[in-house]
Amino acid sequence: MGSVRLEQVHKKYDKNVVVNDVNLEIKDKEFVVLVGPSGCGKSTTLRMIAGLEEITEGKIFIDDKLVNNVAPKDRDIAMVFQNYALYPHMNVYENLAFGLKMRKYPKDEIKNRVHQAADILGIKEMLERKPKALSGGQRQRVALGRAIVRKPKVFLFDEPLSNLDANLRVQMRTEISRLHKQIETTMIYVTHDQIEAMSMGDRIVIMHNGIIQQVDTPLNIYNKPTNKFVAGFIGSPTMNFFDGKLIKTDTIAFEIATCKIILPLSQQDQTRLSQYLNHDITIGIRPEHILAKPSNNYNHKINTNINVTEPVGNEIFVYFALGNNSNQYVSRIPSDIIPQAGKEFELYFDISKFHFFDKTSGKVL
Ligand code: ADP
Ligand code: MG
Repeated sequence: MGSVRLEQVHKKYDKNVVVNDVNLEIKDKEFVVLVGPSGCGKSTTLRMIAGLEEITEGKIFIDDKLVNNVAPKDRDIAMVFQNYALYPHMNVYENLAFGLKMRKYPKDEIKNRVHQAADILGIKEMLERKPKALSGGQRQRVALGRAIVRKPKVFLFDEPLSNLDANLRVQMRTEISRLHKQIETTMIYVTHDQIEAMSMGDRIVIMHNGIIQQVDTPLNIYNKPTNKFVAGFIGSPTMNFFDGKLIKTDTIAFEIATCKIILPLSQQDQTRLSQYLNHDITIGIRPEHILAKPSNNYNHKINTNINVTEPVGNEIFVYFALGNNSNQYVSRIPSDIIPQAGKEFELYFDISKFHFFDKTSGKVL
């Protein structure tokens, strides 16, 4: 078993609160990703779970056992870092065996575990090699292997793929996911990369300024962000935001403040949001919901001025402005339509896909 629970965990450096009232329950065998911008407190949180960093306030439990005062080596966890320095003078076998040797495991047990880990990771033929004779990906596998041989209750990963090139990162991402399925052990994975988070996590924990913003499945985070920060952090290109007001015309509609463009609301949103009439709100819409052609009922046309187009193969990112305003927005459209930069172009807002936020607090409405 390997459940992890954080209760009202705080971390302060002097007066600086870098982890603020974190409450989190991670189930046995779950793959949870902590994601957020650099400096938001991800590593500090992970290091507190590992016992490498003292907790200023709060409680951490592993399998319902309070571990606040348990030494890292006795917590039954293994951690993989971005800088996975292998011992250069030892071969792969010795690198994998080292931690077990230090813990005085019997020789046979060490041999079994090393071979088993090498098997899982597909590095059996490399056991005799020194790290310098390995590729980046193979080295990273050995680093994972050092954690696997320990058979911990919980794996902690702190940006383990950040040093790899883009292709290898994608490959290792799927390997770690596969590894998780195979060894069925709890994994807590820290990254600043939202794509890594979305593709790997059973659940994602989004952090900002030391505070958890949302904990949910990748799809719920994408489709139902609880605030503007989460909405803008997940998704690439990022969600478009327009500040404005709900006004009453024939029906309730949204008026974009900067250019007085009026967007109709779906029937459902009108009912739900009628209480916010004349409030300052922010409306959000993802680039894929601003279309080049009308579709079904979502046919609200807007005249835009195209700034730049960015073909990315299967689709085009279209960066555009509205009215005389300099704000830039983005739509992604199929690559069979090619708008001209510097020209006017009609785009269609799918009004069923709007997100609404309180302008001041950023909370979803
Ligand atoms: P992340 O991993 O999300 O990038 P960290 O958890 O490493 O962020 O850091 C969170 C904040 O705590 C940062 O502002 C960082 O500068 C600060 N911090 C981290 N370690 C220390 C330390 N030993 N002393 C003082 N401040 C620290
Ligand atoms: Mg970090």
